[in-house]
Amino acid sequence: MKHIYILIIGIAMLLSFMPAYSQEEGEGWFRCGTDSVYEELVRQDPQIALNRAKLNDFVREYIQRNPKRSDDEVYVIPVVFHVVHEYGVENVSYEYIQAAIDQMNRDYRKMRADTSSIKDEFKPIAADTKIEFRLARKDPNGNCTMGVTRTYSSSTNHGDEGTKYIAGSWDNSKYLNVWTVKSMSRSGVAGYSYYPGTASDELDGIILLYNYIDRALTHEAGHYLGLPHPWGSTNSPGEADNCEIDDGIEDTPNTIGHTSCALNAVTCGSLDNVQNFMDYSYCYRMFTNGQAAVMRATLNSTASNRDNLWTAENRLATGTDDDHIDEECSPIADFNQNKKMICTGGTVTYNDHTYNTTSIDYRLWNFEGGSPNWSNDEMPVVVYNTGGTFATELHVENGVDDNTYRREKSIRVYDKADGYGLPYFEGFESPTFPQISGNSANDFYVENYNPNHPDEWSEYGWNEESWFLTDYGYSGKCAKIRNAFATAKKTKLYLPNVRIDDDSASIYVSFKVAAAKDPDSQFSDVLMVYGSTTCGDSLTFLHTYSGSRLITSYQYDPQVFFPDDNEWKTISFEVRPTKLHGQNFRLVFESTNVSGNTIYIDDVMISNKPLSVEMQNESSLSVYPNPFYDEVLVDAEEFAGEYSVDVFDIMGRMIYSGKYSERQLNLSNAFVGKPKGMYVIKVYNSDVCKSIRVVKEA
Ligand SMILES: [Zn+2]
Repeated sequence: MKHIYILIIGIAMLLSFMPAYSQEEGEGWFRCGTDSVYEELVRQDPQIALNRAKLNDFVREYIQRNPKRSDDEVYVIPVVFHVVHEYGVENVSYEYIQAAIDQMNRDYRKMRADTSSIKDEFKPIAADTKIEFRLARKDPNGNCTMGVTRTYSSSTNHGDEGTKYIAGSWDNSKYLNVWTVKSMSRSGVAGYSYYPGTASDELDGIILLYNYIDRALTHEAGHYLGLPHPWGSTNSPGEADNCEIDDGIEDTPNTIGHTSCALNAVTCGSLDNVQNFMDYSYCYRMFTNGQAAVMRATLNSTASNRDNLWTAENRLATGTDDDHIDEECSPIADFNQNKKMICTGGTVTYNDHTYNTTSIDYRLWNFEGGSPNWSNDEMPVVVYNTGGTFATELHVENGVDDNTYRREKSIRVYDKADGYGLPYFEGFESPTFPQISGNSANDFYVENYNPNHPDEWSEYGWNEESWFLTDYGYSGKCAKIRNAFATAKKTKLYLPNVRIDDDSASIYVSFKVAAAKDPDSQFSDVLMVYGSTTCGDSLTFLHTYSGSRLITSYQYDPQVFFPDDNEWKTISFEVRPTKLHGQNFRLVFESTNVSGNTIYIDDVMISNKPLSVEMQNESSLSVYPNPFYDEVLVDAEEFAGEYSVDVFDIMGRMIYSGKYSERQLNLSNAFVGKPKGMYVIKVYNSDVCKSIRVVKEA
């Protein structure tokens, strides 16, 4: 019977919840991860289990010493919401949060409109817990707040403990911290919280999916106040074994737990309290008196300083005392824009997202390089007619205070006329990377997953998982991304814009790649290649490379993969005219790391003539003698017509550039007065590109 039962539940869930919510999680019902997280903590640190046992002992004794209904004090808990967002629907409104708090208070005070539909058997033990929650009106510095912080971060796409550090936390002895995100890193989990005394101060609190705030807050706050699930401390409702465990609370009937509203269920010998907030059913209505007693006892415990939250001093400090009169706070200016890269003549729509205020009296935008260059509108539309990288500024006033937010490099505008002509060769040798030397209008761009530095190109240090510039290229420097230290993070590398004079014919792309993979891992990093014909604004997918299509080396240790010449390969493809228009083309590499190793990219060639892989074999380009002293000759036999020669030093600086048409070339002049050491000579025309390392001896 069990299977049929589950099937019926499944269908019922689909019917009742699918229309109302679009579920990215693929689950109709709320899944809480509190116990899985707790179990992981205990595995790492057994002391945490002792902390929890200590709290349970305290709670038991406290309840014995303080018989039921002997105290009527209402405990008020100050709350702060940390909304982590990318300016989408997950940037939930203050009103939505306040409504969820109001609902939670009706739940905890037994004031729901549907309390009357609590099953008769449980009406006598349905509790007014006399616990309330209020959004903080003073921040930890005593400044006026509406109790909601907002942090722009891609971390909203994989909410976890890292998200809490990014958004920050307010003193957990004074506030209940609630973080909200668009999706969680734990798949299928809608939220979790920590039992008192089990988390470090800055992680203590509740993390929730934004679209579960109204449904899951009451349940998660129950955990935060010490309550387990009614069937016991696991995240697995519905298992027969659950009758063997219990939540340790006297008046909650033993149950296996429910994911649907089976009101008459008897799973462990007595009628189940399916309507309990701590079950997984969707028809919750009540806490029991026993649960209320546990939560109230917990609020008198020093575990995670829960006993400080509701004190008169703390309510005064957080602006949650009954006498507090809400005032208008200082506004925090913030805005969103629909594009960050456009071609000249393109438009950008800005949107005022100022918060911590109920109204704005005066607003002034300043659009550097834009037309108009100022506006008072809430959602101004701005045209950019000249190339460059421009800042945008928003100034707001609300009668109490003013605030200005300036976003440097808010918009990158590319003039197609500045695009490089074909053939375009990119060896990543520019000394001023990511900006191309002398051409700030047409530089590289990196879209880094790093939430604090979404578009910063960094050569060293903390964000090594971003694309960065390095030695160990096939020739000179190259672009590199280290993928070994994170998973499922995407980072894009936009090459400069290329001008396509004839977009009715194919173009041809080739590049060199070296990629390593842990031989024991079944996963491989993924390299996606996109093209943009809108200066980077929108992307067209071209190709994806992973596994044997990408990997050139098997290396266990990501620290030691520096590719040899035979660990590079050339990837070539054609881009058909159907994917070309607007006289602009921009090649974009995107790495998705899957616990892999390192990807190197070098010597990208974009041409309007087919590139033969064979012809790129550098052995056919000969330089002699090598090493050389003062005279060096290049044999460029394969190059018909005019071709270009560039010479780079070991730092990747171009020290010489010239155009030739003869087969035999004396390049000695390029090295006059140059120090001894390694150099790279590149020879290319629209058909082929070759490079070779040479060594000058004196
Ligand atoms: Zn739970």
